[in-house]
Amino acid sequence: MIYFDNVSKLYSAGAAALEDVTFTIEPKEFVSLVGQSGAGKSTLIRLLLAEEKPSKGKVFFESLDVHNLTSSEIPFVRRKIGTVFQDFRLLPTKTAFENIAFALEAAGKDDAEIAADVPHVLELVGLADKSDYFPHELSGGQQQRVAIARALVNRPEVVVADEPTGNLDPLNTWEIIRLLAKINELGTTVLLATHDKDIIDTIGKRVITFEGGRVVRDEKRGRYIL
Ligand code: ADP
Repeated sequence: MIYFDNVSKLYSAGAAALEDVTFTIEPKEFVSLVGQSGAGKSTLIRLLLAEEKPSKGKVFFESLDVHNLTSSEIPFVRRKIGTVFQDFRLLPTKTAFENIAFALEAAGKDDAEIAADVPHVLELVGLADKSDYFPHELSGGQQQRVAIARALVNRPEVVVADEPTGNLDPLNTWEIIRLLAKINELGTTVLLATHDKDIIDTIGKRVITFEGGRVVRDEKRGRYIL
């Protein structure tokens, strides 16, 4: 489903952010990308989303070469990849419902679909009763759930979460990790970038470890070893 083929990324200044990175992710996998700050995790995600181009190698998403797409194929691919970030990235003047509806509008969905689909994903993330709340009226953990609902609403093939618990306390951290595990159990591939040792050691799923832009370990039931 996702294939990085000998990918390197050099920014204009400095050392390689990624170097000779090769791995494959199969549908329905839950994969953690682990590494200290600066190890290259966010760069990898930006390459997958076609926000940056590799300096060398190729990135494939469902057999499409991500950096060789037509301008109409790029939004098609991005819609198949739901994204969640550390800082939530919700629109502050829109309610939870409207934030999620916005992602459906951008994908060209009509009002009937929006009215049906938004309550469904709010229910899935446990926020059915917070539909009309603005981000500032929600806790950090609740805001991240809205962001996850927004990432899911277009039924992506994969959810990519870049340090999704970085701004959360331990209780909310575990609720978000449990939610990502549930989404995975329901059939969506999950890619989780984190440097949280407790999360990695508890999940018991595949871990790809990065050091200085290189893959140093790729283990089926990995642990946090840096
Ligand atoms: P991580 O997400 O694991 O913290 P990053 O992918 O953000 O790692 O960074 C990997 C390396 O690439 C770091 O050395 C970082 O300084 C560098 N880097 C990231 N983005 C840029 C950029 N836009 N320009 C120059 N260097 C960058």
